[in-house]
Formats: sequence, structure tokens, C-alpha cells
Amino acid sequence: MNIHIENLSKNFGATQVLRNIGLEIPDREFVSLLGPSGCGKTTLLRILAGFEDPSEGQVLFDGKPVSSPGHSVPPEKRNISMVFQSFALWPHLTVREHLEFPLRHHRFVAEEIRGNSKRHIEETLEIVGLSRLAGRYPAQLSGGQRQRVALARAMVTRPAVMLMDEPLSALDAGLRIAMREEIQRIHRICGCTVLYVTHDQSEALAMSDRVLIMNNGIIEQNGNSADIYYRPATPFVARFVSGSNLLAGEWHGEAFCFGSQDRYRWIVPDVQDAIKREGLCPLRPDQLVFTSDPGELPGVIQNVQFQGRENHYTIGTALGALRMHIPGADRCEVGRQVFLALRDKAESAGAPADSAIPCAQVSLSI
Ligand code: ATP
Repeated sequence: MNIHIENLSKNFGATQVLRNIGLEIPDREFVSLLGPSGCGKTTLLRILAGFEDPSEGQVLFDGKPVSSPGHSVPPEKRNISMVFQSFALWPHLTVREHLEFPLRHHRFVAEEIRGNSKRHIEETLEIVGLSRLAGRYPAQLSGGQRQRVALARAMVTRPAVMLMDEPLSALDAGLRIAMREEIQRIHRICGCTVLYVTHDQSEALAMSDRVLIMNNGIIEQNGNSADIYYRPATPFVARFVSGSNLLAGEWHGEAFCFGSQDRYRWIVPDVQDAIKREGLCPLRPDQLVFTSDPGELPGVIQNVQFQGRENHYTIGTALGALRMHIPGADRCEVGRQVFLALRDKAESAGAPADSAIPCAQVSLSI
């Protein structure tokens, strides 16, 4: 199902939570809505589900209006399913009964599915790996198994749209990653449009055809994962999605000049004009390296965290603290003095490999 959102705003009393949102979500696309807590993600999802009316604007499903101020088609009359963060299972129903219920009551279930509901339920249980647990009640399941029930219940009717509100956030880190693949598979099998709300950057980038970055009630960027990660449109997106450092300085084409009297000049391609206009340069932690070149930016290691395949550093510089991610297990200790360069520049100048970390006596003045 195609979703069209037009000039959508939502106020709660005097507070405007959504501001003039316009959006087109094509049929079968997997779209994530990513943003910090309180930016309006759930409110937008609830309007799409029919639980809230917009204050202004409208929503159309396949060209038909379903939400406008004071007039919203109720959730049960939309061909949608929802998956909640809290799972929202029914304690008195078994796993199998959780799937039987929507098949009996969802008004959009295809005749072919309704006529073969027993087989269809078995297939769905198989897809989510719950066949052996079909007779259990929610209290007899682990968190991951409960979430599978919630996903199975949402997909069993083969809805045109699945709306998911932070469906993995109650699970532990390992299970969250395993369930991502499950959700991608369910999306492929169902062939439905998915709108997936999360505040987890890696979850959104990993699974989606498209990611919408929300901040303070507006969509700051709408693009595929690579665009969002490598070509952030705003300083907020750069910081929120990849944890980029934001350096202040002056742009001359692709050359970013910073430090006193523009002492440093780094060539940084692919930075969007909106960020350049603010005199900022976003640098992801993986774009910086240590170098032995004393003409580069000096700093002192303030903190280091071992992360297995890489170390995460915080470096104190005259420009403020900068974050760096350096591949390799070797690590430099807190208090060491270092020089920082841009990764590409350092590598093309034949800088040492990342695991060999040159340290030097430096002065922090620039
Ligand atoms: P989170 O990631 O924490 O769930 P979110 O991005 O989903 O956040 P929303 O739940 O959409 O954010 O809430 C956006 C803002 O609207 C918040 O400031 C919230 O307090 C406010 N809000 C949400 N629902 C209501 C309501 N029914 N009445 C008043 N304010 C509300």
C-alpha cells in the first residue's frame, strides 16, 4: 500500500509535536523513522494507525483519505497491523490462539487465507520458529519468544502495512541483532509496506530501504542508509546518526580551513551545502587517524575504550574533544600526546598503519 502524508501537523495543547510533514512511502518499502526521544515518532505512527487525529493536513492510503482533522478511519478499518515495544500479548491466550484471533476478526484477510487458516497458522509459526511452542501461554515464554509471537500475530493476516514501534527495544543486545534478520525476512515474505520506529541508529540503517531522520517534529533528512550515513544533510543528522565531530571553520570549495589563521586545511569531499553554510565540518570518528606529522592537529588522549576490532578514543584538542575510532587491538594509553589527520590524507601520505600509533610531544595551541 502506498502512503501519502500531506502538510501533517499535530498539537497537544499549546505544544506542536509534528510540524508540516510531507512524505510519500511507496508500496512495499521498508522505511524507518529514526530520531531522539520525544521528537514525535510515535505520534506520527499513531496517526497512521488511526489512534490519533492530525491537527492539520491529511494521510491517504492508496489515494484514499484516512486521516484528517476530526475525521479518521478507525484502526480496525485500515488494512494495517501494529507491533508494540511492550509486545501487548494477551495473557489468557496461547501462542496459536494469538494467531487465530486476528485471522477470525481482521476484516481484510484474503479468502484464500481464511479458508486455509489452520495451514496458514502452522506456516506462520514455522517462519518465526514457534511451532514447538504453539500451546504455551505468554508467561511461559522468554522475551525473544514473546516478541516473535507479536510479530507472528502482526504478519498472520498479511496486512498491507505493518507499523512497528520500537519492537526490539525490550530485548537484550544479542537478541535484538538476531531479530533484525527475522523482521527483514517477514517483510520480504509479506511484501507489505513497513514503517519502523526506532531510536537505534544501527537498527534503522541495517534494515531499511529508506530512513527518515526526525528531530523536533520535522523530518531533517529522507534518504537511503548510505546517504544518511555518508552524506548527512544537517549538523543534527551528522551527530545523531554517526556520532560525527563538528569542527568550526571556513569552507573554500572542498577545502575546510580551521585553527588560528586557518592553520589547518583538510580536503573533505561530500559535505552538504547546508552544513557548509553554517561553517561546520562533520567528521565521523572513523575519518580521523593518528599521524606522526607534527604539522597536523595536536591532541592528548583523554579516554580510550576497547571495542574488540577497534578502540574508541576521546582526544582533547584546542578545538574541543574529538571522538576517533581506530581499527586494531593495540591501544594508546590515556595522557599520550598525538597528532590527528584526516584518514584519506594520512593514508595517501604513507602514514603508519592504524595499529601502530605514533605518539609525540605536542603543544595544544593552534
Ligand atoms: P520516544 O522515542 O521517547 O518514544 P517519540 O519520538 O516517539 O519518543 P512521541 O511519543 O511522539 O515521541 O512524543 C512527542 C512529544 O509529544 C513528547 O514531548 C510527548 O511528551 C508529547 N505527547 C505525546 N503524546 C501526548 C499526549 N497524548 N498529550 C500530550 N503530549 C503528548
